[in-house]
Amino acid sequence: MKIFVTGGAGYIGSICVEQMLDRGHEVAVLDNLTEGHRAAVDPRATFFQADLADREAVVRAIGGFSPHAVMHFAANALVGESMTNPSKYFRNNVANGINLLDAMVQCGVTRFVFSSTCATFGIPGKMPIDESLPQQPINPYGESKLMFERILRWYDEIHGLRFTALRYFNAAGASEKFGEDHRIETHLIPNVLKVALGQKEAVEIYGTDYETPDGTCIRDYIHILDLADAHIRALDREESGFFNLGTGGGTSVREVVDCCRRVTGKDIAVVEKPRRPGDPPRLIAGSDKIRRELGWQPGYQDIEAIVRSAWAWHQRHPGGYGD
Ligand code: UDP
Repeated sequence: MKIFVTGGAGYIGSICVEQMLDRGHEVAVLDNLTEGHRAAVDPRATFFQADLADREAVVRAIGGFSPHAVMHFAANALVGESMTNPSKYFRNNVANGINLLDAMVQCGVTRFVFSSTCATFGIPGKMPIDESLPQQPINPYGESKLMFERILRWYDEIHGLRFTALRYFNAAGASEKFGEDHRIETHLIPNVLKVALGQKEAVEIYGTDYETPDGTCIRDYIHILDLADAHIRALDREESGFFNLGTGGGTSVREVVDCCRRVTGKDIAVVEKPRRPGDPPRLIAGSDKIRRELGWQPGYQDIEAIVRSAWAWHQRHPGGYGD
């Protein structure tokens, strides 16, 4: 198939692009390179540097490539930043996303795979989080993704745009070639590994007084290659649907740090800090639906394999993509 990928220079997008190319798909990437890196775009893909705010450029790129499907990764995705700059989240994740949908309608492209998030659920009353739970985001990031999910229902009903929305839990790890390099790194695993590489003094732990066994937040870390596999499976779906995408396992912040100590063999200093606004204490995926309907299952169940792949990439790319 021909797949048009927005945000294909970012962490998750770049690895999904690589995996699709490896499986014989033809891929075009559109990215404005504000968060992404040119070097993260697989050289086998066609590249358009453009912003989703530029509707004409998006129509030209999609019209010229004539894809079977669009995968939409381009977005801002930092909970903390969204709590101080909500405008950026609603503008980029919602308004600019509508430009993409309209360009698809204009060009007659009817399949869409959307990067959604477990942050659409807020603080759920029940764990694990399955698709039946109410979505009540507690930060503008989650709200922006929920708004877009709702918009997708209407584009499906009115324009016949068939979508698969994948609500990621915590993507982590790397492929051989591509890994996680954010210009401002806020994510846990890369920050811990920076300490192991000697690039940071200590890792900050945001909140040690949560109602969890060790007092730190619990997340469901999913290997990036398992995440990519779910996207590729979604391409074959005929109907629209929403899926929670995580392994169903939970790891606390302290457990992640301990795991990084084991994998890297380094002492990793920690500093305990107050809670980060907008962070729910526990997020674990109920993944029955995606296992049943997409036949998906995680190849990497344990945090150690995930951290090992991230560490291998960071050791080979200590300066990230170098831009
Ligand atoms: N976290 C932390 N120190 C860091 C980065 C993150 O303690 O340097 C915590 C964060 O508060 C959350 C968990 O680690 O509880 C995962 O955060 P991350 O930003 O990686 O992903 P999120 O769950 O926000 O998408």
